[in-house]
Amino acid sequence: MEKLRRLEKISRILDPLDEQKNELLEKTIQFSEEFIASLPEAKAYNNSPDNAGAMLDFPITEEGKDIDKILKCFGDNVVSTGLNPTSGRFLGYIPGGGLFHSALGDYLAAVTNRYSGVFFANPGAVRIENMLLRWMAEVIGYPEDSAGYLASGGSIANLSAIVVARDEYDISGAKVENAVVYITEHVHHCIQKALKIAGLAKCECRVVPVDKGFRMKPDSLDELIKKDEIQGKLPWLIIASAGTTNTGSVDPLEEIKAIAEKHNLWYHVDGAYGALFQLCPEGKEVLRGMELSDSIVMDPHKTLFLPYGTGALLVRDKQKLFESHNVSADYMQDTLDAVGELSPADLSPELTKHFRGLRMWLPLQIAGVKVFRAALSEKILLARYFYDKIQTIDGFEVGPYPDLSVVTYRYVPDNGKADLFNELLMKELLNDGRIFISSTRINGKFVLRLAVGCFRTHLDEIEETIQILESTSKKIRKNL
Ligand SMILES: *Cc1c(COP(=O)(O)O)cnc(C)c1O
Repeated sequence: MEKLRRLEKISRILDPLDEQKNELLEKTIQFSEEFIASLPEAKAYNNSPDNAGAMLDFPITEEGKDIDKILKCFGDNVVSTGLNPTSGRFLGYIPGGGLFHSALGDYLAAVTNRYSGVFFANPGAVRIENMLLRWMAEVIGYPEDSAGYLASGGSIANLSAIVVARDEYDISGAKVENAVVYITEHVHHCIQKALKIAGLAKCECRVVPVDKGFRMKPDSLDELIKKDEIQGKLPWLIIASAGTTNTGSVDPLEEIKAIAEKHNLWYHVDGAYGALFQLCPEGKEVLRGMELSDSIVMDPHKTLFLPYGTGALLVRDKQKLFESHNVSADYMQDTLDAVGELSPADLSPELTKHFRGLRMWLPLQIAGVKVFRAALSEKILLARYFYDKIQTIDGFEVGPYPDLSVVTYRYVPDNGKADLFNELLMKELLNDGRIFISSTRINGKFVLRLAVGCFRTHLDEIEETIQILESTSKKIRKNL
């Protein structure tokens, strides 16, 4: 008994009393308030010469530490280093979000710690997630009885889609080497990774040519499939992109559906970046046809501005998703009787999982959908504005007109050495850090990318970005 009492006294520290709890709360809130207040001035990229090496001097120890010291370590080594995706001037890769409303959702999810994997365990939590999926299905134009799950991100959601397609076409054993997947060179690399994890590394990936806007050419796709059929191959899967990461291009989704149907292939759309632009009229126009796919992926942690760790998969035929992801276990027998909603655990690789629905549900409930529609329209219009404006600045040339919110462009100096110049420009911009853009290679050329997708990016941030691009390119030209 004495030992028990002693242990209890110590273990109760895990359940802090009011005074202590208030101190932790106040200091954490103060930290986050100061962080948010600093954002208008904060850099979008923080060069950290020692790569946050001081983190190593702050080990996990037997004794707990003071919250001030812990927050200082976090601030110095995490918040002040590397990319700052919460900045409105973060315009590289596909920006992430960090909505305040979502932070409150995560806080409530952690404090209440409700189990959102199985309907029986918490019907309300599972209803929230399934309602969000039905809402997304409605937005996309999927049938009401399609099903899916909230994933940690687009990579896992794409993996699940590929597994469902694999099982449907029974791509296994000796068939694998004969099976063919159709993609473009701009497909996200998580697709190759997913094929590898799904045991399909030996499948052939046919790279379909693209048009001038980097969109899959349907005629070429049709020809390639025909050729493979004649040669006795096993075409089974087409993966189209509803917004490629590289250039934001949307494949011709309607035309691809017709070809998938004609040849009886699984039609998957990777809309991790772009699908949720369907919420605004500008996106809707470009994304026509994605509702015709067999499966689709979208990333609320991109195009709904949520914190990282929120992706989503929808599969048209819920039975197929269930069959690829469900096994029963004796110790789960109590959970089977609660019918009414499908459980995420039966539709996804996870059992116990983050209640990630709450960070999506809360902002949608608090702000309402129309705010997201406006923000997404704004992002597309900002990309178009940048596209028009940057080409009026001496030396800059642009790639294709943006389908969504990614613009490709580069500076072409008089000496013609454009690759070198743009590499220097990138380096200079990283050192400066006020804006963060990224670069890529297209048809062998070094090209700059602007991806508008942070909810804090507005006209001022784009104007500032154009100014910085202009002044930095002038500076480099002078020094050449
Ligand atoms: C970001 C992205 C992915 C990968 O998603 P994660 O959430 O990073 O795992 C897949 N496809 C496309 C088109 C993307 O933009």
